[in-house]
Order: sequence, then C-alpha cells, then structure tokens
Amino acid sequence: MRLIMKFGGSSVDSASELRQVSELVKSHSQKNQIIVVVSALRGVTDSLLASCEKAEGGDKASAKKYVQDLSDKHINLVRSATTDKKSLNSVEKKIRTLIKDLEKLLLGVSYLGETTARSRDQILSYGERLSVQVLHSVLKDQKIKSVCLTGAEAGILTDSNFGEATPLMNVTKHQVTEILVPYLDKGVVPIVTGFIAGNQDHVVTTLGRGGSDYTATILASSVDADEVWFWTDVDGLMTADPRLIGEAKTILDISFREAMEMTIFGAKAMHPRALEPAMHAKIPVRIRNTFNPSNKGTLVQLSQSVKPVDIVKAVVLVKDVAVINLVGTGMVGKPGTIARIFDVLAKGGINVLMISQTVSEANVSLAIKRQDLDNAINSLETALLGSGSILEISGENDVSVIAVVGAGMKGTRGVAARVFQCVSEAKVNVRIIAQGSSELNISFVVKEKEAKRAVRAIHGEFLAH
Ligand code: ADP
Ligand code: ASP
Ligand code: MG
Repeated sequence: MRLIMKFGGSSVDSASELRQVSELVKSHSQKNQIIVVVSALRGVTDSLLASCEKAEGGDKASAKKYVQDLSDKHINLVRSATTDKKSLNSVEKKIRTLIKDLEKLLLGVSYLGETTARSRDQILSYGERLSVQVLHSVLKDQKIKSVCLTGAEAGILTDSNFGEATPLMNVTKHQVTEILVPYLDKGVVPIVTGFIAGNQDHVVTTLGRGGSDYTATILASSVDADEVWFWTDVDGLMTADPRLIGEAKTILDISFREAMEMTIFGAKAMHPRALEPAMHAKIPVRIRNTFNPSNKGTLVQLSQSVKPVDIVKAVVLVKDVAVINLVGTGMVGKPGTIARIFDVLAKGGINVLMISQTVSEANVSLAIKRQDLDNAINSLETALLGSGSILEISGENDVSVIAVVGAGMKGTRGVAARVFQCVSEAKVNVRIIAQGSSELNISFVVKEKEAKRAVRAIHGEFLAH
C-alpha cells in the first residue's frame, strides 16, 4: 500500500512519544510505501503566535527569551531521543540555524511594531521546520532511510492567501509526484512539514490552523495513495469531545460528509477542508491513536452505513462564538438583504457559522467566531445602517453553538423534536436554530454557561447506548 501517515503535535512531544512514532513508521514501512507528515510539537504554533503578538508591542527581551526556550525544547528532545553522536551534532546545528533566523524575524517585527499575514506565516512556519528536523533525526537513529522536506520543497504550491492558503492542485499534483515518488520507489521515507507550503514567488504560506491534516490529504491525492492515516492522541473521531464527555465513544465508521460536518464545527481541531482532497480522490482516511495502535480507530470513507441506532453520530460544541442580531421591518419582502449582509462579511474575511431568519423577515441572526465580532459589527453598521432596511444591529458574545451531526437524521422524523425535548429537560434555553439543507446537522445557539449541559443531554439521549 501507499500510505500517508500524519502525526499531530499531540504525538510528538516527548522522547518516548517520538520513539513510538518511529516504531510505527518502521513497522509499516516494511511492507508499504510511506510518506510522513508532521506537525509542530504540541503547543508550539500557539506559542509562535503569542510571541508574534508580543514582538508587535516592541518587546525584544521576550523575543530573545522565547527563541532560547524554543531552542532548548527542541535540542533537549533530540538529545533524549537520539543516540547517534554524529547525527545529533548535525541536527543541533540545523536547529540552531533555524532558531537564529526566527530570532531575526521576531526582532524585525519588534522594530517595525507590526506583522502582516505574510510575515506571520513566515514566523509560524518555524514550528514545523523545527519538528521535522527532530523526527528526521529520530528516524535516522532507528536506521529508517528518510529525507526531510518542507511543504514547498515537496511540491505543494498555493495561492497567496496568507494564513489560509489554498493549494493549486494541478501544479501541486504534478510537482509532488515528480518529487516524492522517486523517493518512495527507492524505499526512502519522505518526512514533510505539515501546515506550510509556498506560493509562486517561493514565499512561505500556511494552510490555516490544523493544516497538517490538509497537507496529508493534498499529498495523498497527489501521489494516488491508498489510504491516509491521521495519528493522534485519542482512538479516533469520537461521539463528543472526550475532554467534555467522559463516556464519549470512538466512531468506527463515518462518511466524509458527516466527518466534514464535524470538522467544520471544530471537532478534533482538524482543518475544516482537510478531508476534501481525500474525498474527491476517494481515498479512505483513518484516524488512529499513536499510543494505542492495536485499535483500528475511525474509518472515514465515501459510503455511509446508517444503522437505526446511529441516527446521530456525534455532538459538537463550538466555543468562542458570538451572535449578531439585525432588526428592521424594512427587510420584509426585500430580496437581497441577506446577500448584502453576506457580502459585507465576506469582504471583511468573516465566516458565518449559522444564519437564521424569522418568518416575519424582520429579524436576522448570525453566528460567527467571537474574535470577529467587533469587526463584523463595525462593517455591518457602516454598510447597512442608514440604508433604511436595517434599523438596529447588536451583538452577544457569551454564546456557544451546538451541532448535532449524523446522516441518519435525513428523512428520520422526530429527531429535531427529540433533540430539543432533551435540551429543554436539561433546562437549557435554545436561542437560534438552523438545519442545513443537507439534513446532516442540526445546530443551535445557547448561552455559553448552559452549553455543556446541553451537550451532555444530547449525548445521553442519542449516543450513550
Ligand atoms: P493532533 O495533534 O493529532 O492534530 P488535535 O489537537 O487536532 O490533535 O486534536 C486531538 C484532540 O481533539 C483530542 O485530544 C481530543 O481531546 C480533541 N477532540 C475534541 N473533539 C473531539 C472528537 N469529537 N473526536 C476526537 N477528538 C476530539
Ligand atoms: N501546527 C499547526 C497548528 O497548530 C498545524 C497542525 O497542527 O495541524 O495549527
Ligand atoms: Mg491537529
């Protein structure tokens, strides 16, 4: 088989974890052709983002301390996970060079007092540039023939939408095949940085948070892989966030459409578009536990086998949400109002999670990410107030969205009634409701402090069998 194995940050954080990863690569590479994709070490991308923000405030001392700590973290890790002295010296040198470059970038930001999406991508790329070196040295230590490449070096070309770049698949497919297949044919394992790629001017881009999953499926569709495996720290995609619901169970089988619905709402911190390339190329994806490899995990594939008990597959809690309410009788019977609202938000780069309009049409409510609230309200007020159709725009920032996902809901009567009955029995007040026309999900807004209670109620009602 030709396999893409992606290891998330949650699988590469300590020497024992790295040894476990190299065991998995070793055992599977004996009979298969393998491409490894690796994320930054756990928490590193978040810390790079935070260090960017500090540097914007002109804090040079923090930038210096941060890069020193980051260097120590990676060097200590390779020292404890690698035994070969020669390869240790060479990887330490590479890490120090990368850290020096990163320091220059952060100091540059601190002098300028600002970052752009482009410079932020450059800085964020160091998480994966560093982790790939660490894993490379551990694989070498285990006598696994491997080579490390950045996403761009592996052939992934994107547009220049920094922070959320889109792969240009035709060129990417061609380049990735030309570059990676010869390694596979020689029995060499390419280790590719997740998350980062490059544009036509050879400038670093990132695919968006959680983007290593996306890298894996882009590579899979490029080299016609048989399967993609996402190795993580839980047994697979689960019926709810296991940190929230102790009794959440692993979903054995799920369709691409259902899994995508879950990831769009943020389950498992996966990139929302990560499954697209695999779905289009009909390549099955498995989500497996690095630390429990005997478990088969979750299989994501095209067909969906709906068992009557599986009407609902999962319940997802989306935190950090805000709601915008737009009120105005002038919207009644006026086509195009919603289009204008969407247009304004799209121009501001704001993604709408849900929309709901009352039958009277005098009220439209939208759920968006909380971080976008101020920006969204400002843009909407500037564009729409005074036009006569919208009189009042207000925001609420203490809400969450709950999404109930499952293909079996389609055409099954009474699911929504059961959902809202059990939520109301848990004394949770439901604010805004939306059901996608795909009928794959029912989502609704509740007050943040009541959200966990609602998730527990739904999990108990549909998924605790
Ligand atoms: P990785 O580092 O492997 O990319 P992520 O950070 O993307 O891992 O996501 C893994 C974590 O997502 C798990 O540890 C789990 O706690 C959390 N999680 C939240 N919701 C779910 C869900 N429905 N199924 C599986 N994991 C979930
Ligand atoms: N390191 C990146 C992030 O934290 C990509 C990933 O982990 O998938 O978003
Ligand atoms: Mg992830």
